[in-house]
Amino acid sequence: MKFSAFGDKFNGPSGIGNLMDDLGRAMASEAPMLMLGGGNPGRIPELEARLCDELRKIANDENRFAQVAGAYDAPNGESRFIDALVKLINTQYNWGISKENIAITNGSQNAFFFIFNLFGGKYADGSTRKILLPLAPEYIGYEDVFVDGQHFVANKPTIDYLDDDMFKYRVDFDTLEITEDIAAICVSRPTNPTGNVLTDDEMTRLDEIARTNDIPLIIDKAYGLPFPNIIFSKGTPTWNQNTIMCLSLSKFGLPGLRTGIVIADTPVIDAISALNAITNLSPNSSGAALVTPLFESGEVLDLSTNVVRPFYQEKAASAVRYVRDALSEYPVKIHKPEGALFLWLWFKDLPITTLELYQRLKNRGVLIIPSQYFFPGIDEDWQHKHECIRLTYSQSEETVREGIRIIGEEVRAIYDARACA
Ligand code: PLP
Repeated sequence: MKFSAFGDKFNGPSGIGNLMDDLGRAMASEAPMLMLGGGNPGRIPELEARLCDELRKIANDENRFAQVAGAYDAPNGESRFIDALVKLINTQYNWGISKENIAITNGSQNAFFFIFNLFGGKYADGSTRKILLPLAPEYIGYEDVFVDGQHFVANKPTIDYLDDDMFKYRVDFDTLEITEDIAAICVSRPTNPTGNVLTDDEMTRLDEIARTNDIPLIIDKAYGLPFPNIIFSKGTPTWNQNTIMCLSLSKFGLPGLRTGIVIADTPVIDAISALNAITNLSPNSSGAALVTPLFESGEVLDLSTNVVRPFYQEKAASAVRYVRDALSEYPVKIHKPEGALFLWLWFKDLPITTLELYQRLKNRGVLIIPSQYFFPGIDEDWQHKHECIRLTYSQSEETVREGIRIIGEEVRAIYDARACA
């Protein structure tokens, strides 16, 4: 069968597509697998019980059910939810947003597909423009979103060596260049894969750079404030007309209901609504409808801060302990876990690439993600790209403990073999 160039691109091989297939096959195999590779949120019984309550209320009220499931929303999304969100955001942060500043999408991944294609790629005047990722490593899910080609450029970070075995990436403003062909800047905060939270100072500087150059600053807050608030360090959220802020209900515990939220200036929201209409008629309203009462009462903030955040913070602390137990005498460095669901481990001067380590661990029944996939926009072959892994600590304590124990065994054996050679 022959496809168009668009068909060939999306149907063709992609690094992440191959990796996800490989992970899928490993999970489906007979041998039990310890899944430290994915980005699925963990199960939090208290939160699940609260969300089930809301679901039961919808199921028990025919009119509400008809509103949620029996009607198409407007292309910008569920209006009662949007009203609740506007009120919550303005009360909490005083950003002065209105309904016209919000659009709902089918998950934030869907929003990124729209937004990156709205700004990156070919323009009517024949020029081609790019999205700047000021701090790589960055989210693996950005890599393949463009309908034609690849339009990212990324900046290598500076590395701060912190106490003990920790480090932290920082934006290297000395090398950050805004060339004519940059159409927008994008960061995830907290960052997937590293758990980094860009400092308020870094965010202020990026905001200033974006405004001075008259390009938008896209902030991916899939793990951020105000919900799900999986942030263990300080990080003040800010927004202005030049910001395109992307939120999601996924890491609040509802990835299956595919709800993304974009807060931006009206031309961006109008464009996203138009894309929603063309590609989906209207976005999925089930997630928005389910959580509307929690947004109207403000309970979403309480649940995020007092239930979701501590759940992951405890898991992050135990994962760090397990890594230290397994590898204390070895040159492993841990990116300071400041948020999200991941530990980012750097095996300095590891004699093999972490893609090879991924294969060895898969043979031992542990799935992680090697670092090379997290550098969209950095083509240069930088050794650091092959020395790190991302592991997810959202799964059960036993899975994380056992997985890290096996990672420790393999990594020790690899370093020891070099020492003996
Ligand atoms: N952004 C980041 C940084 C993520 O980690 C993810 C998912 O893992 C997404 C966006 C997309 O999430 P969703 O489409 O479920 O909202």
